[in-house]
Amino acid sequence: MWQDLEVTLKKVEDARLKEKPDQNSLGFGRYFTDHMFMMNWDRQNGWHDARICPFEDFRISPAAMVFHYGQAIFEGMKAYRGKDDQIFLFRPKDNLQRMSDSALRMCMPRLPAEKVLKGLKALLYLERDWVPSLFGSSLYIRPTMIAVEPMLGVRPSSSYCFFIILCPVGAYYPEGFEPTRIYISDTYVRAVKGGVGQAKTAGNYGASLLASEEAKKAGCTQVLWLDACEHKYIEEVGTSNIFFLLGDQLITPPLEGSILPGITRDSVMTLAREWGIEVVERQIGIDEVIEACVSGELRESFATGTAAVISPVGEFHYQETVYPVNTGEAGELARKFFEEMQLRQYGHREDGYGWSVRVC
Ligand SMILES: *Cc1c(COP(=O)(O)O)cnc(C)c1O
Repeated sequence: MWQDLEVTLKKVEDARLKEKPDQNSLGFGRYFTDHMFMMNWDRQNGWHDARICPFEDFRISPAAMVFHYGQAIFEGMKAYRGKDDQIFLFRPKDNLQRMSDSALRMCMPRLPAEKVLKGLKALLYLERDWVPSLFGSSLYIRPTMIAVEPMLGVRPSSSYCFFIILCPVGAYYPEGFEPTRIYISDTYVRAVKGGVGQAKTAGNYGASLLASEEAKKAGCTQVLWLDACEHKYIEEVGTSNIFFLLGDQLITPPLEGSILPGITRDSVMTLAREWGIEVVERQIGIDEVIEACVSGELRESFATGTAAVISPVGEFHYQETVYPVNTGEAGELARKFFEEMQLRQYGHREDGYGWSVRVC
């Protein structure tokens, strides 16, 4: 199986394989599997040396450009153990396409998507016992690309390393579908048009930490970002996209360069349209949201992303005032999306779009 992929395999000796963590206390991002996928790029050879190897520390120069100038991009996707104990990916090609888009924005090389997907499938096959079986849990997949040329000077690196690591993660809502408290920052911003907001590049997340700390101090789980120019229009929430059910319309901000084009966002819009719900991508101001919150016209709000799938908003904290949404309860539509998305991700329901991809 490995030869036709031109991926070499170096396995961890059986005696040194890790013990699998308890499925009921996985949390998020704490445990890593035994193996990873790696490959390298340089101008002369392009992508080469694709390999599945033990998950371990690797050597990198302190002068590697990633440390100094931030050429680092990543993706987040999941493998699900579902129907008949099979393992599924959800829209993996979209993640790889988005990673190529991020690469282009950061002057990094394009990914050979077909080859990476084959490599990922081979890695998942090798690590299949790490995919947890509890419904709601999954194996989180983190593809990453970094600039490794040892050189000081601001220009694109001439060499890169790409790797994929895997970690088993628990259900996001172990105690039920919990609404979140959302902190609206009117001082810090995430991204500007013309900047790198639409790329999954590491600097965006470093830049968001201070506002997140402020949100936590206010007792909130996530920051809702407003536009960088006027601090008026809603952009997204934490590392998720956001939706508002206002009257009978499902509204989400448009992708105009500063928002990450979420695959969950796109899936939710597709399902909503399939169900006859009117979906509107338009600018929506914080004033409009707060007014609709107070008048009750805002029936629901929820965030979408791979980690939590759907995350209902219980309240908005804005300028020292708390505005409950749907009296602080998880909304019915949010719950329906959550359930329907999961059925598709775990291969229990055909989607008709080819979203669910069987691995083994
Ligand atoms: C990853 C991410 C999302 C969600 O994207 P999905 O493809 O749905 O996981 C939204 N916003 C930001 C800032 C992100 O990094």
